[in-house]
Amino acid sequence: MLNRTATGSRSVSRPEDRAGAILTVDLAAVVENWWILKRRARPGCDVGAVVKADAYGLGLEQVATALKLAGCNTFYVAHLDGAITLRQILGPGPRIACLNGPNKGTERDHVALRIMPVLSTPEHIKAWQTYALKEDVLMESIVQVDTGMNRLGLSEKEFNALLTDPDGFLGLHPQMLMSHLACADDPQHPLNKTQLERFRAMIGAFRTRFPDSKGSLANSAGVLLGQDWQFEYARPGVALYGVNPTQSGAQTMLPVVNLKARIIQVRPVDTPGHVGYGAASSVRQGAKIATVSMGYADGYLRSLGSSGFGILDGIKVPVLGRVSMDLTTFDVSNVPDSATIPGGFIDIISHAVTVDDVARAAGTIGYEILTALGNRFHRRYLPAPVARA
Ligand SMILES: *Cc1c(COP(=O)(O)O)cnc(C)c1O
Repeated sequence: MLNRTATGSRSVSRPEDRAGAILTVDLAAVVENWWILKRRARPGCDVGAVVKADAYGLGLEQVATALKLAGCNTFYVAHLDGAITLRQILGPGPRIACLNGPNKGTERDHVALRIMPVLSTPEHIKAWQTYALKEDVLMESIVQVDTGMNRLGLSEKEFNALLTDPDGFLGLHPQMLMSHLACADDPQHPLNKTQLERFRAMIGAFRTRFPDSKGSLANSAGVLLGQDWQFEYARPGVALYGVNPTQSGAQTMLPVVNLKARIIQVRPVDTPGHVGYGAASSVRQGAKIATVSMGYADGYLRSLGSSGFGILDGIKVPVLGRVSMDLTTFDVSNVPDSATIPGGFIDIISHAVTVDDVARAAGTIGYEILTALGNRFHRRYLPAPVARA
């Protein structure tokens, strides 16, 4: 059988045989995670899906298609390019919101493809308004307010100024007032309540002007904070992809990602020495090192050197020495020879080594591990069930 390689030329081998590592994305688990959040949501709350950054690195097309078939009707991306691609994937039905707002000159694309801009600054509002009035279009939009994060959204002062100006929101046709939580992953953090109170006050004021406007405050962790934080539109991302959205709470999401890297070489050490760049780790005589075909260019972060671990034959195998661009070395001394064979695979992310475990070892968060996953892997998708009542 002939297969296309990445460059389009023909090769006779199978892609999974050429790749250094195999990434499996369980779309059934993504869909089930969406249901888990839906069951936590208050009645009538639209639980959408944040699919920015190529669905957190897992594949926009596959993830969005599976969620749409499950009944998800609102999708959030960061950039217009993602939104345009997503519109092609989803067809005309579902809502698409563009979180980072409209860049100047992109208004027409938003309208043509019914992509809801999130308007976060007075400049966004002004530009959108000018366009809407000039072209005489009535386009749904989302207004974002800042309730304590100081990242994106109208300040309280800017918001109030617009509200008291009779022409302030003219032409905007806002569907939602939105804000974002800074500390939802820590349920005890006092800012959660503070942001909720500020948001309640702002949406109360907003509804005196736009009585039908809806609220949206919760990301994944916000949904888990409770129904008070959910309002009418929830925007979960990371939980859909199997990462624990809370810092210390029990994991309630199903794992989505499996990553296994191919062993190229197994080296029984017969002279004590060192491993890898900088001779950063030493090895004793009798140790056994497996070198796999994956490195930091694949998103296996360099900070995992001497701190990450994989699983081989059910045994935990630590990363030994530094992670190279295309190679990583593991200490497989404790694994029987029968399981340490070139051509075999070490589990890098699995039920036993979760995305959160890898993140902890790397000194980062699951979000960064997922979005860093490389594009050289052979990717496989386990399908979601076709429909569900
Ligand atoms: C990324 C993002 C989300 C999703 O957050 P998760 O923590 O991944 O659930 C929701 N809202 C906004 C504004 C975001 O930027």
